[in-house]
Amino acid sequence: MAERPLEHVVELAGGVGGARLAHGIQAHLGAGLTVVVNTGDDLERHGLLVCPDHDTVLYTLAGLDNRALGWGLEGETFANAAMLAGYGEETWFRLGDRDLATHIVRTRRVREGQRLTDVARHLGASLGVAARILPMTENAVRTKIRTDDGWLDFQTYFVRLHQAPEVRELRYDGLAEATATPEVEAALAAAEAIVVAPSNPFLSLAPILGVAGIRAGIDAARARGVPVAAISGIIGGRAVKGPADRILVSLGHEASALGVARIHAPWIDLFVIDTVDAALAPAIRELGLDVLVADTLMDTDEARARVAGTVLEAVTALRR
Ligand code: GDP
Repeated sequence: MAERPLEHVVELAGGVGGARLAHGIQAHLGAGLTVVVNTGDDLERHGLLVCPDHDTVLYTLAGLDNRALGWGLEGETFANAAMLAGYGEETWFRLGDRDLATHIVRTRRVREGQRLTDVARHLGASLGVAARILPMTENAVRTKIRTDDGWLDFQTYFVRLHQAPEVRELRYDGLAEATATPEVEAALAAAEAIVVAPSNPFLSLAPILGVAGIRAGIDAARARGVPVAAISGIIGGRAVKGPADRILVSLGHEASALGVARIHAPWIDLFVIDTVDAALAPAIRELGLDVLVADTLMDTDEARARVAGTVLEAVTALRR
């Protein structure tokens, strides 16, 4: 059993669940953390390229996340939205005044030919973020959701309709052509452990895993003894935030930590479930997984660091 401290950890992340865990891991590892972030939620708004999951992780790692709103930047105002509404623009997807700066800078740099990966590095460095945040791919991937009223853009479902419609089917436009960046491939090749955030299995993790080279990089890491741990985003049968529990059911899965474990079982080694779900541990072990039972709610800085510390300790012990 290796007892060397971990230096290079890769996290796969969506927005809120991904950001909370990343914040906790960054408290332990600083620049040793690389976050590979979902870009399937990205969109164009008012001519600007908006990357919601990336920006949630960015602001959280910079300590600038708005905890009262649960998204966006602290101290945010929305004066621009009122002005845009006055011009007859749609404002159901509001961009904050401070947040707008991020999208302006990103859009200008991308239009000038810079890669999203390089723009992300600039944004992170400018905000003093220690960890590295890598978009999962440079290719445009756009998640679409089929409801009883037909196919919807991701943000129409998520923000405009408040995730109310039942999700019948998902598709990820552009994913079949998407390839991992050299940075993502190198991070997976250097990883000493891979940690999967409690992010939505369908909306956040499936697109990341579908990028050519990422699943292969994870499998190659496991083959050289690198442990892969995932944390359940379902606690006591419910999502901490968002529609994951309902989507699990509507797509034919069980809304429980066991249901999530069944989805991830083929490609992970350790599944972390909340203390309230301890009774599910034997059934998850039967899937061939190691199970760690811990408090997994990351609602404070202390809780984020504690959960991350517990997971890092567990994967350190699993290294071969
Ligand atoms: P989104 O893109 O903003 O929806 O964020 P993610 O996909 O990264 O995260 C959403 C998932 O994270 C939901 O299923 C939540 O239940 C889960 N989640 C959020 N916060 C926590 C937490 O503190 N602990 C755990 N265990 N799960 C969480």
